Amino acid sequence: MAEESKPASLADRITKPTSPAAADATPAAPSTWSDEVASPTTEPKEGESSLAAAQVDGQVEPLNGSGLQDGQYEVEVKLSDIQGDVNSPLYSISSFEQLGISEAILKGLYGMNFKKPSKIQEKALPILLMNPPTNMIAQSQSGTGKTAAFVITILSRIDLSKPNQPQALVLAPSRELARQIEGVIRSIGQFVPNLAIQAAVPGAVERGAKIQAAVVVGTPGTVMDLIKRRQFDASQMKVLCLDEADSMLDQQGLGDQCARVKGMLPGVQQTLLFSATFPDAVMQYAQMFSPNANTIQLRRDELTVKGISQMYMDCSGDEGKYNFLSQLYGAMTVGSSIIFVKRRNTADAIADRLTKDGHHVVAVHGAFEGGERDRILEEFRVGKIKVLITTNVLARGIDVQSVNMVINYDVPMKGRNDEEPDAETYLHRIGRTGRFGRVGVSISFVFDKKSYLALNKIALYYQIDLVRLPTDDWDETENIIKNVTKSSRAGTNLQA
Ligand code: ADP
Ligand code: MG
Repeated sequence: MAEESKPASLADRITKPTSPAAADATPAAPSTWSDEVASPTTEPKEGESSLAAAQVDGQVEPLNGSGLQDGQYEVEVKLSDIQGDVNSPLYSISSFEQLGISEAILKGLYGMNFKKPSKIQEKALPILLMNPPTNMIAQSQSGTGKTAAFVITILSRIDLSKPNQPQALVLAPSRELARQIEGVIRSIGQFVPNLAIQAAVPGAVERGAKIQAAVVVGTPGTVMDLIKRRQFDASQMKVLCLDEADSMLDQQGLGDQCARVKGMLPGVQQTLLFSATFPDAVMQYAQMFSPNANTIQLRRDELTVKGISQMYMDCSGDEGKYNFLSQLYGAMTVGSSIIFVKRRNTADAIADRLTKDGHHVVAVHGAFEGGERDRILEEFRVGKIKVLITTNVLARGIDVQSVNMVINYDVPMKGRNDEEPDAETYLHRIGRTGRFGRVGVSISFVFDKKSYLALNKIALYYQIDLVRLPTDDWDETENIIKNVTKSSRAGTNLQA
């Protein structure tokens, strides 16, 4: 769109490190703006059931407290330095030992090369482990270790003399996230004797087969079905945890399913809700779902992660978006990248076109069969696939440390007719990079007044400045991106 027609306030929010690019955009009909989000509830039916698709990321890959030793990085910021910075969400003064965690779990944590707790772990764990158990609503920035906080709690609560009796249940909004959490529990719990864990996602449990594990991780629809069909004995469930709780409780369908599952767990002593976002509108319901919960909340302006450089590009219509995306391919494959689009068919179409243009990319979304989804994500985790094109189904929770670029091909919108910018989804999408002190870049594409205004509203909401990437000087654009990604760690936290 033409520069002049932009509202004046945009200029205040958005930082332009270089001379403004030519106002090259022409308004385009927002023809792609009228479709479904790949709803996590529309999981494909029975797929192949292999639990063997074990997660290898976010668990076994050592973080190296001394920083990543990769030759391509010019600047090294030590994780131990970041964890010593009082302003960092990774900061803590205590050790895992001081938090009263059992030997076996400690061994698991050290096996994953976790040296010190993060702020959320340090703050939440003493309360989470208290007796009698109390509820908790816990918020912390993306990539700051919420999973370990609830996993340590669960592993501390289960009675290992009843290894096949379900005692703790984690619910997640997508099969991929459920699988990932399953992997984290296996890692942290690797030295816990007799620990059995099972995933309850579509296709994972055969018809008629019983769940025989102390810890179950699943998606709400599948868990509900399994309990109803008496394949899952939930009578002795002690801990219920909702990861990405705000979206779980707020989304149509999902929220009902969560409430129904909760109604099927008569003995639950501890209900835990975790997320990076808890919008006010959801908070009230969250407090009903988790009564008398201890609450750890962040201010809106604390939510963004410093290591993620947020940028945008002004594109000329749909074709302009595609052209920039294609040009960014080189930068996308320095590490790994995720491209988020609104609609499934956009994901397919872009993947096809990029492939025809000679690039190696893979699309994945809710219309894919479950086993196929697991396989694609696994290949993405190990770096076999470097560029993933997907919908909101993977916007939340996915932890792949090599992701250093996220592209919002479509600015996330919500509301019946996509009339509102979706600030929460924006935060979760960009949070797929910059995990635990790493750096990353997010680039949002705007191409018409609506997308421009929406992105501006999101920037205002979080009080952030977005850097405009030039669209007429590609060398400069690549330089700006490279300047961020050449460092492995988010040293910005130290300079703040
Ligand atoms: P969140 O759920 O808060 O977005 P995750 O639980 O997915 O974040 O953790 C992000 C990454 O940080 C994971 O790769 C995890 O292995 C790592 N991590 C978590 N806690 C620690 C810790 N105390 N020390 C080092 N790395 C950690
Ligand atoms: Mg998480």
